[in-house]
Parts: sequence; C-alpha cells; structure tokens
Amino acid sequence: TDSRPELLQTGPMMPMIEAQLTERFTVHRLDGADPEAVLAQAGPRIRAVATGVGSTAGGKRRVTGDLLARLPKVEIVANFGVGYDAVDTDAAAGRGIVVTNTPGVLDDEVADLSVALLLATIRRLPQAERHLRAGLWPKGGFPLTPTLRDRTIGIVGMGRIGRAIARRLEGFGRPIVYHSRRPVADVPYRHYPSLVEMARDADALIVIVPGGPETNNMINAEVLAALGPAGTLINVARGSVVDEPALIKALAEGTIASAGLDVFADEPNVPEALIAMDNVVLLPHVASATHVTRNAMGQLVVDNLAAWFEGRPPLTPVPETPVPARV
Ligand code: NDP
Repeated sequence: TDSRPELLQTGPMMPMIEAQLTERFTVHRLDGADPEAVLAQAGPRIRAVATGVGSTAGGKRRVTGDLLARLPKVEIVANFGVGYDAVDTDAAAGRGIVVTNTPGVLDDEVADLSVALLLATIRRLPQAERHLRAGLWPKGGFPLTPTLRDRTIGIVGMGRIGRAIARRLEGFGRPIVYHSRRPVADVPYRHYPSLVEMARDADALIVIVPGGPETNNMINAEVLAALGPAGTLINVARGSVVDEPALIKALAEGTIASAGLDVFADEPNVPEALIAMDNVVLLPHVASATHVTRNAMGQLVVDNLAAWFEGRPPLTPVPETPVPARV
C-alpha cells in the first residue's frame, strides 16, 4: 500500500511543483469535477495542503476555516506566494496548523516590476507604444507627459519588498518617504504614522502591504483626495488594499492623475471602467511572474512540505502560526 502522506492541492500549480508533490505525496485535487466527493472521501486522511495563485478569483479565500474543518488531520498549509491572505491563518492557528509562504525569493523581481510600472504609468509608455503601433507618429509626436523628476515618492509598506523598491528608487534621486504601522529602525527615509498625511506630501504612492482584513480598502477616497490631481497610485500589493470604486471615481474626476495596477479586487475580472481609461496602466498580476523567480517560489513551497514531513521545522512559517510541537 501507498504510505506517502496525503496532500490536498486546491488548484493548478506549476508543473515543477506538481511533479515534486506527486513524487512525495498522494495528491488529491480540489479543482476537479467533484470537490465535495474529494473532501468526503479523502478529507479525513489529508495531512498537507498546497495552495497558490490562480486557484480562484482574487480576494476570496481558498483555504477557509470551513475547509480546514473538513481536514481533521491536516498539519501544514504551504502557500505559493509571500502574500497569504487567501489562507485563514486564525483558523489555522486555532487548530495548531502551520502555514508557510514564500518570502524573500521574490523581493528583487517584484521591486523591479514596481519601479517599471511607476515609470510606465507616469511617462505613459504603453500609451506611447500604442501611438506608434497605430501609425500615428508620422502625423505627430506623442504628447508630452508628466515626470518623475518633480515628485516625492511615498511607499505604503516598508517590509522586504518595500525596502527593495526604496533601494532602487534611491538611484532616481527623488525624496522617498513611507508609511507603516511601526517605523523601521534602519532605513533613512521619513516615516509617516498617518497615511493621509503622507499622501498629502507625496506625488506618487507605491502600495506594497499585505492583503487581508487589516489593510482592506486602506487606499480610500480620503487618501486619493490627499494624493491630489497630479498624483499617481501604483498598486503591486493586493486588490483588496484599494477601494476600487473610489479609485475609478478619482481617476474619472481628476482627483488623481493616473494609476498603475498589477492587482485587482476580483481577479481575473478587471472593471470595464478601468479598461476604458487612458490614464491607467493595467497588468495581470505579473510582479513575480518570471521563470527564475516563480521556480524559486515553487521550490520553496516543496521544500517547506518536504522539511515538515522529514521531521524538520518548516523553512518559512508565517508569524501568525507558531510551529506546533510534534511527538
Ligand atoms: P512584509 O511582511 O515584509 O512587509 C509588509 C509591510 O507592510 C511592513 O512594512 C508592514 O509594517 C506593513 N504593513 C502591514 N500591515 C499594515 C497596515 N495595516 N498598515 C500599514 N502598513 C502595514 O511583506 P513583503 O514586503 O514580503 O510583501 C508585501 C506584500 O506584497 C505581500 O503580502 C503580498 O500581498 C504583496 N505582493 C504582491 C505581489 C504581486 O504579484 N503583485 C508579489 C509579491 C508580494 P507594519 O507591520 O509596521 O505596519
């Protein structure tokens, strides 16, 4: 008989992950024709869950308390992605389940993309390219654009990725300020305890905080009004962090100038109102999406699970779920 531990996969994962999971585990999938039957039949024996991007629409939890309740023997939930807002960590902690994520291995990649999106949005690079491709250049040059040169840049969230963004922006010679709940000891930038006050002083905001209830809609109408009519909003965090209807209204009415968005409230659905706008740059959640970085993230998912079932501590548990003692 097969003595490999049983694992539940909530949705599609990269082939390099699936290949390694199949080698080490008996894998059950929740994204087949009859998830209810899978839970009824295998649920009581499942010891691990692997979950990650692309499994369901954004903003909704994939690993809920209800799902965990159907898995009485589950010990570990390995999340593909540093952001684990799709996992109910309170429910996991309450049941002594350890949750792991993929921090660190994607910081530089996401920071590169964030700076690219900032410049693309302010200098209107996609719009300029569309102008060229549409054959409009011979009829007239692309209109002049706003600039980064006169801006103070406010970073919302100064964690692993926020710092990597700030380090890159130092090379651009513009003032950098940040907001987080607690000031960070070893960074030279001005800290704002108040997000609205920072938005008032900054001309571009780059949002890179975790998703989840604590940050839900933190970029609201008041923050956008404070950012002002020349302001640019870049969101590379989670769609839930921005009040999307308020953002659409602010862009339509000129309350802010432009936005660059990698994430949305209900992925992969993007509001028609945003798609119709010319002052936005829209990306399909690609900040970490390169071969090298996604492979590193995938390997960390597998390595966390492997460590756990070899009796070692998980490599990257999240702070909300202390590693339980094992007999
Ligand atoms: P970290 O945990 O290292 O940093 C998070 C930062 O956010 C900290 O500075 C923290 O400071 C701040 N923060 C947390 N909660 C709040 C709050 N309520 N108000 C203000 N600030 C807050 O995370 P990472 O830098 O590794 O990643 C950040 C997030 O980026 C991820 O959780 C993920 O959702 C997103 N991300 C998106 C990607 C994409 O593809 N677009 C790719 C990778 C990450 P403090 O606790 O002091 O408030």
